[in-house]
Amino acid sequence: MKLIDSHAHLTFEPLAEAINAVLDRSIAAGVDGWITVGTDSKQNEQIISILDKHPNLFGTVGIHPHYAKDVSDSDVERMRLLAENEKIIAIGETGLDFHYNFSKQDAQIELFKKQLAIASDTNLPLIIHSRNAFDKTIKVLDEFSGSLGNIVFHCFGGDATRAKFILDRGYYISFTGMITFKSADSAREAAAVVPLDRMMVETDCPYMSPAPMRKQKINEPALMIHTAKKLAEIKGVGYETFCKSVTENTKRFFGI
Ligand SMILES: [Zn+2]
Repeated sequence: MKLIDSHAHLTFEPLAEAINAVLDRSIAAGVDGWITVGTDSKQNEQIISILDKHPNLFGTVGIHPHYAKDVSDSDVERMRLLAENEKIIAIGETGLDFHYNFSKQDAQIELFKKQLAIASDTNLPLIIHSRNAFDKTIKVLDEFSGSLGNIVFHCFGGDATRAKFILDRGYYISFTGMITFKSADSAREAAAVVPLDRMMVETDCPYMSPAPMRKQKINEPALMIHTAKKLAEIKGVGYETFCKSVTENTKRFFGI
């Protein structure tokens, strides 16, 4: 694989209805591996149903903190079962979102812990969503310390201090097209302190189209090259070197 989109939502519309064309455009742009990430029970099932579209397409199962209020025990148990699929390579996205607070914080924390337990039992890596909840996210992760495998903070928008804090704990950091936004100076400073061997790159598509493609409202994996080029520039390495390095990290992190 040349470059892997480590966090996409290929089961979201309008990407899902055009999945073959989306993957073709991605391969033509040089992004030839994808990890499509679960956010709720319905998406988790849909992910399983598209995994045979390409040998380099992998999936995760997880329930986003937004939906904590709607989740039943059977949803969580179903997730645990789906995680046994050999192309399901991580648990997530899971975590805490105290920015939108679509679900009560206590419910978010409870659901987060249930998913950490699954990650611990299955030895699968974790994809963490954390927004306006950094301290609490770390505190919950610390409660499970020693029993978890690889952990990545996805769509990182924090500053260099937080990036260092995460790196000190051995976690990885993944950047989206946000890194290309004019307003994202502090996220670029964060990227500058993340060593090349602890970094991943993602689209979070259909959201977060990178500059100069922000007019294209629907993001897709082909556009990730703009994010990768910006990160290579920040790290002061050539594009090929950058791609080789983050692809190795992504393969090592997810065990693919
Ligand atoms: Zn996402």
